[in-house]
Amino acid sequence: MRVLVVEDEVRLAENIARALREAPGYAVDVASDGDEALAMCWTGAYDLIVLDLMLPKRPGEEVLAQLRAARNSTPVMILTAVSNTSKTIALLNVGADDYLTKPFDLGELIARCRALIRRGKGSGEPVMKFGPIEMHTAEQRVLKGGLPVELSPTEYRILEYLMHRPRVVVSKRELLEHLYDFTWEHHSNVIEAHMSNLRKKLRSFPHDQDVLTTLRGRGYRLTQP
Ligand code: CA
Repeated sequence: MRVLVVEDEVRLAENIARALREAPGYAVDVASDGDEALAMCWTGAYDLIVLDLMLPKRPGEEVLAQLRAARNSTPVMILTAVSNTSKTIALLNVGADDYLTKPFDLGELIARCRALIRRGKGSGEPVMKFGPIEMHTAEQRVLKGGLPVELSPTEYRILEYLMHRPRVVVSKRELLEHLYDFTWEHHSNVIEAHMSNLRKKLRSFPHDQDVLTTLRGRGYRLTQP
């Protein structure tokens, strides 16, 4: 999953980015003003936007309004400096998905971000299931047929993305854009190795039919054997 953090207070932006990279293992880009945020939204494939309201050049409210006017439906978590109920309700009405009042607990931000991403992908449950695979997103545990599967952080992120889009062919580019930050193109040559390892780990027996299939030149797909 890839998150855009829009926050002009450098230390806070760094702390949020670090927390999102560490715990759920998201790829994170940071924008420090409203114009930069919009430019990045038009080019990047984000699964969530964490948006501060008081920003240089263009306020967060306007960034949100422009996104929704352009029919961009990426979930947006608002960060607001003062508890201002009427303003917050107004923002929820124009398309914000959740909000936190500063100062907030980073753990709470992470938990809410996870929930927003799940809901944004149409799955509100903290445990995702597909065929024999179970993914416990809070504990970052994966089970296949009830038995634990040990995945590397990258393998976990790949599977998490695919679990949100079961049976759909996901192109290599789409996967790269959602797994990595703006440096995604540099990771293009290693994704196949990660895929191959993940596919092997999801097999209970060497001759099992694969849950994860590669469609040459098109991408990858989770299928129920
Ligand atoms: Ca600010």
